[in-house]
Amino acid sequence: MVLFVTGVCGKNCFYCPVSNERRGKDKIFANERLVNRDEDLIEEAISMDALGTGITGGEPLLRLDRVVHYINLLKNKFGKSHHIHLYTALAPNKEVLESLRRAGLDEIRFHPPRNILQNIGRTYYRVSIIEAHKMGILTGIEIPAITFDFSGVISLLKEVDGFLNVNELEFSETNLAELKKLGYLPVNDTSCAALGSKEVAESLDFEKLHFCSSRFKDAVQLRERFKRIAKKSARYFDEITDDGTLVYGVIQGDCVHLLEELGVHKEMFADKHGTVDTAWWIARNLAGEFKKIGCKVSVIERYPMKNGLVVEMTPL
Ligand code: SF4
Repeated sequence: MVLFVTGVCGKNCFYCPVSNERRGKDKIFANERLVNRDEDLIEEAISMDALGTGITGGEPLLRLDRVVHYINLLKNKFGKSHHIHLYTALAPNKEVLESLRRAGLDEIRFHPPRNILQNIGRTYYRVSIIEAHKMGILTGIEIPAITFDFSGVISLLKEVDGFLNVNELEFSETNLAELKKLGYLPVNDTSCAALGSKEVAESLDFEKLHFCSSRFKDAVQLRERFKRIAKKSARYFDEITDDGTLVYGVIQGDCVHLLEELGVHKEMFADKHGTVDTAWWIARNLAGEFKKIGCKVSVIERYPMKNGLVVEMTPL
């Protein structure tokens, strides 16, 4: 689960991808769900069967009490194994790190501003990163793949056995003007990725390097978008899959009277004149009955939008 704890942030990174709807607003979202009460957060985690949570923003540590509260809440509800990582562009001191550790934070991903990176070994970020590591919090740095001398970052990470996550730089509605101003170009007309960013990541030689490509993120974002659409468009009997597609049963033929005779509640099917959509499990359990009266029965998985593409059709 992605827990966006605030849109407030004191930094002004030129590549900031936070959307206009969230940027600067002190609002909380669990995935796409607005969080007003703790129950909203817990419900979202349960609904997606979350194994862990990434706390992000804005700058989460500008709302430290909130972060500590949510770490406690999630750990108490889902147990120690619910893995929690936190992004921060700050260099928290020992006291702050200690409060995060006590609450149960498992991992911290530092995102130092660009002007710090080159000389990170001589900044307070080094102190903070070493301190986090000493406390037993898994520690790493996560930054976009942009050109600079990575040697200081890598030698610091080697000191703390830390990881380096680099994300392919991408254009978004909020950073487009700034990226263009700085001379960045998209890889091609159909990609959001910035030209040359992947090559920066490829040039790095570090064992604990993870590269997150724009294409990979696109796939994740598409899935998240499907899920949002599915939540809005699903009928009572549709099942939403983890990929955000809809699964339901289809009975072709005149079967409404039989459905009623068999006691299937009206909410559990939609008569589309000659074809009936229903829950996949109703179609499966009653397939024999429908086939006896000459109907064709199948289970369909499709994209959640109106007339969405059929991904799979299984005849029963
Ligand atoms: S620290 Fe993060 S949220 Fe803040 S401006 Fe930079 S990218 Fe955006």
